[in-house]
Amino acid sequence: MLPVVALVGRPNVGKSTLFNRLTRSRDALVADYPGLTRDRQYGQAEVEEHPFIVIDTGGIHGDEEGIDALMAEQSLMAIEEADAVLFLVDARAGLTSADIGIADHLRKQNKKVFLVANKIDGIDADSAVAEFYQLALGEVHQIAAAHGRGVTQLLTLALTPHIEALGQEQTPESEAAQDSEEIDAPEENDKIKLAIIGKPNVGKSTLTNRILGEERVVVYDMPGTTRDSVYIPMERNGREYTLIDTAGIRRRKNVTDVVEKYSVIKTLRAIEDANVCLLIIDAHEGITDQDLSLLGFILEAGRSLVLAVNKWDGLDEHVKDRIKTELDRRLGFIDFARIHFISALHGTGVGHLYESVEEAFVSATKRISTSMVTKILDMAVFDHQPPMHNGRRIKLKYAHAGGYNPPIIVIHGNQTKHLPVSYKRYLMNYYRKSLKVMGTPIKIEFRETA
Ligand code: GDP
Ligand code: GDP
Repeated sequence: MLPVVALVGRPNVGKSTLFNRLTRSRDALVADYPGLTRDRQYGQAEVEEHPFIVIDTGGIHGDEEGIDALMAEQSLMAIEEADAVLFLVDARAGLTSADIGIADHLRKQNKKVFLVANKIDGIDADSAVAEFYQLALGEVHQIAAAHGRGVTQLLTLALTPHIEALGQEQTPESEAAQDSEEIDAPEENDKIKLAIIGKPNVGKSTLTNRILGEERVVVYDMPGTTRDSVYIPMERNGREYTLIDTAGIRRRKNVTDVVEKYSVIKTLRAIEDANVCLLIIDAHEGITDQDLSLLGFILEAGRSLVLAVNKWDGLDEHVKDRIKTELDRRLGFIDFARIHFISALHGTGVGHLYESVEEAFVSATKRISTSMVTKILDMAVFDHQPPMHNGRRIKLKYAHAGGYNPPIIVIHGNQTKHLPVSYKRYLMNYYRKSLKVMGTPIKIEFRETA
């Protein structure tokens, strides 16, 4: 289970600066798709190869109106669901009443809180942060988020040990944790973990019900908290699947009146844990910013992707045409993903989803040999040479496979950092066609050779 770290603090203390610093390294794949902007509130980060979800909770003011009233619902949930909170204060501004208000709130949450004094650059840090000890939240960690000072130390010395300890505690505790561990077992390579992803009301539960109604299902009655998806094992045409149900239909059945709260964190965790994501879009609403943001997460995590436009029943032909045009215009850059038009309600088109899911999974986990990727590179360069830079031709010499799920291709050459985006896209498409890879992004990395 991916740990969640929430950044909390009043406006202007440097939360988004820290957020950007933490999430930047994971941004590469998303940056390859100019149509997508990353969600500035939710992202993935990594410390010493431990990935975690980082959340910028944004709107906490902590003033006299009461912080509860001022916090967005998702921000509140984020703190509730977080495994750790980084509570930022401004070392230059000093202690404010808002800080005290937030500290009181956090104390009530009974949460692991790391107090972080930001902006220590160019000031006498030790004396500036002394007053923050009044908050009685333990050590005051000193950082300058804008310059990166102290950030690695904060992560490796404070956060990582806490996150690791949490992981060990959780294991024997809940059945759900045990079950998801079984599912995580690396030798079960041919079992597809399929996450059904989409904003509220796109039809996730309806689709899950439809899929489960048609297939033989081994139903587990799993205890769950709001932040956990439900993992449902199923089989189809001899292929084993684990359906990751972010809508939580099992619980809806049992507890009649409780409507599951939509949780971004639950969705992020499901994406990270899946092999293939089925992203549902609502035909009645078209493509929304929330859809694009979910798409960004899926790409950021490097997951395989199948798109399903749901509620395709009962639409006029001209409405269908308009949606297809919009898809082309706004999602045309995701040229690797298959798009299905379905009705979860009536079952139309649902059966064909498996073909694309299967194809995406096989593509993402395909083993690629060094000789093959180098040969493809040679052909690509032969067909269309890289441009010159400063009077010298950019040289691409050889390539090897750097990983899979998503497939990573590492290309060695000279002056590779000057390779234009258009040429990178050309290479990407060349590899996609040559390797017959569909449904998964391909990541190309460049290395400078002597
Ligand atoms: P947020 O509202 O908490 O998300 O704060 P921002 O990240 O937007 O930062 C607020 C302001 O503080 C911006 O002008 C940043 O450039 C500045 N800032 C952030 N981190 C530092 C730092 O480490 N040192 C200094 N001197 N300024 C910083
Ligand atoms: P979730 O929040 O994503 O799980 O969405 P639900 O499965 O609860 O569906 C939200 C609403 O959309 C419900 O009223 C469904 O009946 C409706 N709905 C779901 N799928 C379809 C569909 O294929 N066609 C139509 N017309 N309505 C649908």
